Amino acid sequence: MEQVKTLAAPEMEGRASGTPGAERAALHIAGEMQRVGLTPGGDGGTWQQAFTVPTGIKLGEGNALRIVAPSARVLALGREFVPLTVSADGGWEGDVAFVGFGITAPDVGWDDYAGLDVRGRLVLVIEGEPRRVDGFRRPDAYHYAERSHKVINAREHGAAGVLLVAHPDRAGDALPALTGLGQPWSIFAQAVSRTAADALLIPAGVTLAAVTAAVEAGPAPKSFAVPGARVALRVALVRERGRAANVVGILPGKDARLRDETVVIGAHYDHLGRGGEGSLAPDALGAVHHGADDNASGVAAVLGLARAFAAAGGTSRTLVFVAFAGEEMGLLGSTLYVRKPARPLERTVLMVNLDMVGRLRDRTLYVGGVDGGSGLRELVNAQAGGLTLALRGDPFGPSDHTAFYAAGRPVLFLFTGAHADYHRPSDTWDRINGAGLAEVTAFAARVVDAAASMPTPPAYVRITAPPASVRGGYGPFFGVVPEFGEREGGGVRVGDVRAGSPAESAGVKAGDVIVAFAGMTVNTLQDFSFALRSRRPGDRVDVTVRRDDAEHRFSAVLGERR
Ligand SMILES: [Zn+2]
Repeated sequence: MEQVKTLAAPEMEGRASGTPGAERAALHIAGEMQRVGLTPGGDGGTWQQAFTVPTGIKLGEGNALRIVAPSARVLALGREFVPLTVSADGGWEGDVAFVGFGITAPDVGWDDYAGLDVRGRLVLVIEGEPRRVDGFRRPDAYHYAERSHKVINAREHGAAGVLLVAHPDRAGDALPALTGLGQPWSIFAQAVSRTAADALLIPAGVTLAAVTAAVEAGPAPKSFAVPGARVALRVALVRERGRAANVVGILPGKDARLRDETVVIGAHYDHLGRGGEGSLAPDALGAVHHGADDNASGVAAVLGLARAFAAAGGTSRTLVFVAFAGEEMGLLGSTLYVRKPARPLERTVLMVNLDMVGRLRDRTLYVGGVDGGSGLRELVNAQAGGLTLALRGDPFGPSDHTAFYAAGRPVLFLFTGAHADYHRPSDTWDRINGAGLAEVTAFAARVVDAAASMPTPPAYVRITAPPASVRGGYGPFFGVVPEFGEREGGGVRVGDVRAGSPAESAGVKAGDVIVAFAGMTVNTLQDFSFALRSRRPGDRVDVTVRRDDAEHRFSAVLGERR
């Protein structure tokens, strides 16, 4: 509990990777590892394994949006327009087209771009979706209303830029705040006020309210080029980056025959800082998100295990203790670790991940991943003690163990369950079940002790279970597990391929970098998910991957996500 209190204290400022608060937490964790007698496992004999992460975005100099013709008007930054986080930088001048909701949805039978050539133009797009069209009310169509669909769809239709405007029915006309850490999407993107949109539409003799009503009335889209309208824009965004680091400590094994093998015990120490993209309390932007359960609790357990095993003189196999950074940004720290492991990955026999283990209720502990390694189910059950174990076979999930399983290692994921304070400022230390945390840690100690000394460790098992439904859980299924993080040269790296999936049948392999999918260039994860979601189950698609410096093309028939 002292560790939870320290890590979740206001001085740690929510431990967002790349911030001084997270650096303070990293120094504290390294200090504890040193105090209990671990040896450093980071870069060049240090405790830290460093990398950089995006930490913020702000306006640079010269952001502008100007109507050039038919009558000149300079729009006001912050009041009438603001660049979107995903915008490209630079300047542009050209014609304007109105494209309704900016949606292309073959499964709904709706295409705002039908019959209109927007190549090299700036498109004006309304937020949301045509609510009177039944097809858009199905859960598998919700994503068409997302900004990412509208922006990437505009780019895929060849537009030079996109201007998003709030739906006329929405209360208020405040422009979105410039937040988020995303990478640019290779198209100019700005949000404009409704008065700015009306000004742009003057040459067409219509108002935003009138054209929106016409589009909503359907059935066919009502897009048009705005005659004689010409616009100039400039976007200048400053993307800030900071240093983040995993903290790694090693306890060498004491059996000469087994000490080359490793058990990794990990927990992420980063959290959401003062809110931002991952926060479920958007109104509390700026308030420290303490992250006591997520995941000071897991780090406290890891430090407790380090102390106990070090005091006992270690186990037969070597133990590597890792506090990961960058988890909340998409498993960045664990993804880095599996590429640059402190001890060889192929001799890492098990990874145990503790993420949110401070809210034990009804003595029930969730243990994930038991189908991903031989004998894991039995190993875990034998160590249950007084706990009721809720076992989950799937070794994939939204936490750091996924990076290890995708790299071919058996994993276990310990979790005491979701709660109402998750990703909110109210995830504070006083709501942690201290006795429960101690019990979970003791259970983890028994499991690690068994795995670190058994003659034959668990062997990696490739699971063939149907895909777990992810957020949105509908639509076409391809079957790759993409790696998060940015890639030099673009593309999406395949961490793993689901057994029996369309991707596997087509010949896609782990380690491939997808550079094109279904006729679309893939630079980012957003590109890939856009390309996938623009297709339907049963469609045949071409996939181009980079493998060993050569490009390979495959053809796949998409399945259906269950
Ligand atoms: Zn977490």
